[in-house]
Amino acid sequence: MNHPEAISDDLYREIILDHYTCPRHKGHLETATHRLEGVNPSCGDMVELDLEVRDGRVVEVGFVGEGCSISMASASMLAESVRGQTLDQVRLLADTFKARLLTKGRIPEPPEGVEIGELEALDGVRAYPVRIKCALLAWNTLLEAIEDER
Ligand code: ZN
Repeated sequence: MNHPEAISDDLYREIILDHYTCPRHKGHLETATHRLEGVNPSCGDMVELDLEVRDGRVVEVGFVGEGCSISMASASMLAESVRGQTLDQVRLLADTFKARLLTKGRIPEPPEGVEIGELEALDGVRAYPVRIKCALLAWNTLLEAIEDER
């Protein structure tokens, strides 16, 4: 890692645990314009993602789900990071996050305008290939949910 103030694995674990035990934006949205369920059979994770999209922007996010700490923490972080973003920004962030976890080599620098923020805490999942699916479940569900919004 080339970040001068690289945060430690312990802090990463703490962030994941915090999102798992205190998930952000948990619950269905009454105002949802999009709702999609995603499953990860290899681990038994399930997430149902609600989006309220207005004028090309995700104005509100909610999710319910059951699964391992990685899948639920990732859904919670997703909800926090895409809320308020345009659909184009959401797609770019999701693609950037996926590329980050799926690359076998060095983690690429995020494109300009993309804030990785706390999502960095999930980088450690790269060492456990079966858990990558857990971390990507909510993100793949998100991309599928907005697929027709062009
Ligand atoms: Zn899982």
